[in-house]
This record gives sequence, C-alpha cells and structure tokens, in this order.
Amino acid sequence: MAAQVEENTAAVPQESRQPSAHDLEVLSRQLGRPVRDVVEIPARCVCGNPLVAATAPRLSNGTPFPTTFYLTHPVITSAVSRLEAGGLMNEMNTRLTADQNLAGAYHSAHEDYLQARNDIAGRSGTGAVPEIDGISAGGMPTRVKCLHVLVGHSLAAGPGVNPLGDEALDAISEWWTKDRCYCDGAWDTAGEAPSRDLSRHGPQGLPDIVGRPAPVRKPKTDTPGHQEGTA
Ligand SMILES: [Zn+2]
Repeated sequence: MAAQVEENTAAVPQESRQPSAHDLEVLSRQLGRPVRDVVEIPARCVCGNPLVAATAPRLSNGTPFPTTFYLTHPVITSAVSRLEAGGLMNEMNTRLTADQNLAGAYHSAHEDYLQARNDIAGRSGTGAVPEIDGISAGGMPTRVKCLHVLVGHSLAAGPGVNPLGDEALDAISEWWTKDRCYCDGAWDTAGEAPSRDLSRHGPQGLPDIVGRPAPVRKPKTDTPGHQEGTA
C-alpha cells in the first residue's frame, strides 16, 4: 500500500484514487456517520488513509452537489476550525478586497475547482450538472466562507493552486503536516463503523437516523466546524 502513496498529493495515481471498501469504512469512522456518493480519494495520509473525499457532483438521489472536496481527517478539520475561530477568514476577506494579485489567484483557484469537478464528473459517469455551473464552494471566487473547503481543495490539487488553502495549510503546521501520519487515535476504530446502508437520509446526511446517536460535540475550540456541503 505504501508504495502507492505519493509525496505530492496532486500526483496520487488513478488506482489509489478509487475508494476501496476499507477507505469508505475509514471515512465513516472519521466523520462519525455513513458516507455516500464518494467517488474518489483525492488526498491521502502518508499511511494511505483518506484525508479528503471527493463526492460526485450529482448525488445518487439526483441532487446537484457543488462541494466536491470534503476534508475528512479529524486532526486537520479540528486544526482548521481553530484557524476559523481565530478570525483568519475575516483577515483573508479583507486582503482579497485589497490585493489584486491574491484576488486573481483565488479566482483561478475557483476555476480549477470547477475543472476538477468536471473531470470527476467525467470519470465517475455523473455527466454534466448544469444546475451548479459556475458555482464552486467555500465562498470562491471572491470570498472565504469555509476554510475547510479551501484546505480540502489544496490537499486535492496540490500546492500552488489555491493560495488561501495553501496558506491555511501552512498555518496548521503546528498540528498537522503532510509528511507525517496523525491517524493513530484520531478516530474511533473499535466496534462497527457507521453503516453505509442507510438510504433515507437527505443530502445533508446528518444522523437523524433512528437508533444512531448524534456525534458527540467536542469543546467549542475543537469542533470539526461548519464545513459546508455535507454529503
Ligand atoms: Zn495516517
């Protein structure tokens, strides 16, 4: 397995993008809920575990789904939540209005996101999803509304594509870096994984399912955050 893991996440070979049954189980454990419509694993830990899940731009129930890259690793989501709680998004939004170069690079990131989603639609057989044409995620192209989305994009695309996602990744280096595995103890590996055989929940996918407790909320400074576009 380790041989398939590339140091640059953007160079993840096609075969390791395919989510295995094990990957889907790990994703469910990482998120504390079943995942669905995950079509690729665009970024992995050096140990091979998923860092980001790519969701099809049209869910199997027909719903258009703009948020392609979803950050799943709890260590990274918590760290990014800390940045959000510290006000980094406000600072970035101020800079976006003042710095033409940054605004241009961020707009290019938006276009890369749309292109990457198109490519995934092609590979996964989703086909065109005109309802979300030109709509990316995370506040792109002009604002920052969710740093988790930007970091998910940066990890999927590799460095140099999303300037603000890259910046956020640098800013969490105290808690997570791509050259090390932080998986041990990061999620519950005992017992059964949240079942994937739950078809009635909607695109928000929140566990209002009978018999399943809601995920335990951690203290406010350490919550997984509001990452938009839960599938
Ligand atoms: Zn790992």
